[in-house]
Amino acid sequence: MKEPSINPAFKILKILREINEEQIAVEERLNRITQVIAEQMKADGCSCFVSIDDNYLELFAAYGFNPNATHRVSFRVGEGLIGNIAKNCRPMAVSDAPSHPKYVYNKEFGEDGYKSFLGVPLIRRNRSVGVLLIENKEEREYNRSEQETLETLAMFVADIVTSDDMQEFKTNLIKQRGLITREKIKGISLSKGYGLGHAVLHRRRHAVSKIIAEDKDKELDRLTEAHKKMNEDLDAKFNSTKLGIGEHMDILDAYLMFAKDKGWFKKIADNVISGLTAEAAIERAYEDMWNRLSATKDNYLKERLHDLRDVADRLHSYLSEDSSGQNIATESNDIVVIAKTMGPAELMDYDVHKIRGLLIEDGTPTMHVAIVAKALNIPVVAKIKGLFEEVKSGDVIAVDGTEGYVYLNPTAEIKQKIHKRIEEKIKLQEKLSELKKLPSQTKDGVKIGLSINIGLSFDLDYLETTNCDGVGLYRTEIPFMASEVMPDVERQISYYKELMDKAGNKKVIFRSLDVGSDKLLPYWAGLNEDNPAIGWRSIRITLDRRAILRKQIKAFLTAAANKELNVMFPMISDLAEFEEAKETVLLELEKEKKCKRPIPSKVNIGLMVEVPSIVYELDDVLEKADFISVGTNDLAQFIYACDRGNPRLTERYDVLSAPFLRIMSEIVTKANKHKVYCSVCGEMASNPIEAMTLIGLGYRNLSSSGASYGKVKSMIRSINVKEVSDYVQTLLKSTQRTLRPQLIAYAYDHGIEIY
Ligand code: PEP
Ligand code: MG
Repeated sequence: MKEPSINPAFKILKILREINEEQIAVEERLNRITQVIAEQMKADGCSCFVSIDDNYLELFAAYGFNPNATHRVSFRVGEGLIGNIAKNCRPMAVSDAPSHPKYVYNKEFGEDGYKSFLGVPLIRRNRSVGVLLIENKEEREYNRSEQETLETLAMFVADIVTSDDMQEFKTNLIKQRGLITREKIKGISLSKGYGLGHAVLHRRRHAVSKIIAEDKDKELDRLTEAHKKMNEDLDAKFNSTKLGIGEHMDILDAYLMFAKDKGWFKKIADNVISGLTAEAAIERAYEDMWNRLSATKDNYLKERLHDLRDVADRLHSYLSEDSSGQNIATESNDIVVIAKTMGPAELMDYDVHKIRGLLIEDGTPTMHVAIVAKALNIPVVAKIKGLFEEVKSGDVIAVDGTEGYVYLNPTAEIKQKIHKRIEEKIKLQEKLSELKKLPSQTKDGVKIGLSINIGLSFDLDYLETTNCDGVGLYRTEIPFMASEVMPDVERQISYYKELMDKAGNKKVIFRSLDVGSDKLLPYWAGLNEDNPAIGWRSIRITLDRRAILRKQIKAFLTAAANKELNVMFPMISDLAEFEEAKETVLLELEKEKKCKRPIPSKVNIGLMVEVPSIVYELDDVLEKADFISVGTNDLAQFIYACDRGNPRLTERYDVLSAPFLRIMSEIVTKANKHKVYCSVCGEMASNPIEAMTLIGLGYRNLSSSGASYGKVKSMIRSINVKEVSDYVQTLLKSTQRTLRPQLIAYAYDHGIEIY
């Protein structure tokens, strides 16, 4: 029987591996490798071009050509045969290269006398990182097996080209040439932690500006053409790239399946036939799918929804002839998302389990995407101007969210440091998760109610993984924001009921819809106000559009049937507003009673203290309210007249300052006098040093993010309330701009755990 023939590449690979293990400089290794490839493949020359950035390739190693040509020959991506291989990520075999129309002669290269040419791209995550080629002086056709051999070798060479050694070599080269690169960039930390991954540039979905098509046939042609081109490009990329086998292939296959799905395309085409523009038709088809799949608990289907969003965006980009905006979210397991700015729902367009970091050019600690990222334990660094333009998708990025540093294409040493920190963080998490089971009690035996804030569905898991006292704030607008259409009463009931069921006997505080300002609903047109933070938002909208509020309250009442219901209203500015909102609850309750529908066993109605005017009416409000919760994010923004979304102001004012702490003190003192339950649900309650100060001021109920629960609990279990209170009192008279350094020093001196 004939032995199966052994792939000739394997024999060559064995030699290349041996060379690669030698202790010689990476460039020298690459030179030796080109020589071996030429000899083994019976070529007269072999060379390796490496991408310097997205725009050009440079000769890094060569055998059989001008020995002085390395680093002196370069091609733009798309220029000549070599530039075209890189651009299209496709191999190219030509028997008479100089007569090829795309051939570009470069004297320095020393190619004179060469005829035939076989070049293959070096590929990493769908992008070309260089080109490997062999050439012969005689005119000849390269056969299929030779091409496959070179492609297999290219996979090995691509590893070397993207290795840490080579990255370092490239960085030094760029530096020597005096080109400016930023390797370590300082931003501000919005969520602590460490991560390492490949850059994904977050491009905002363009709003569909034109809905109705002028000419249906033309529109259909446009769609068909874009769809065809997109699939051709995808095929070319995936087929010309040997990616091996494994989970990533399943993902890519599933992705391709979506891109080619005839049913999906037909749906879009039908929408066009019905009169929509191609762009609007894609969105409509996506919405349909979203409506069907978004509520599912099946992670596989959810994953597919991310893919579909990506495919839809990709198709959009082909319609606008901008096919560059493709993200690699589904192609890498470790991604660092880079955005100019971002809404919280947009983060959910990615597979959040793969996000190792989020970098935002703008950004402030209380912006909602930062809160969401924190809940997901994703490190966030913000306020890094120019980053979006500087980074290429696929670049390796290390994120130090604790100190607020970002490393572009980090050295092996930095990578190692980040890996070590990630491991330490895992250990700390383990320690904190043990702590979660212990009582929330201070060293001197004072019980501190510690609840969690909930917005997204994964926050619900914290109800099981912590022994929290309940849900101190359910941000009902988050599911509204994540949905592509306004959820009806039934849908709302299902959200709220799921939460009530998961919470069991624990207290749950529902907050009525708090939209407007930075929390925009995708299905509501922007209001274009001059001052949205102090504009028509939150309770102001829901009181004016009473049907929305009534529907939501009905959903609360139904979901909490036979249980205790706690409802609070955001952005209440005066007593009259609270009474109006309260009246709406009582009316809805009456209706339910009249219709003999099951109602809650008890209804408590409260409000958020987050608009300064209400602090001056608090004695009267506390007569009417069953509870209050302080929204320190908005309260600080209004006290200091400082937009919580403006990155220029982030470090100007501190909640740990005497004016703000005196106001916080007044609120809790008044609530205690009226014996009204009072808690803090703003970010202060999630930050251990700030939460420590709140306890010092007299707060006994805090509601933190689920991700911060362990850290806050750890602080609580290490303080002595009496001592902290005495110390905080002394600070209230201070005229210093920030009391943070003193409070941190106090915590260190007293062994208080503030991770
Ligand atoms: C706050 O303002 O502190 C608060 C908890 O509400 P949000 O952050 O949702 O505006
Ligand atoms: Mg608020």
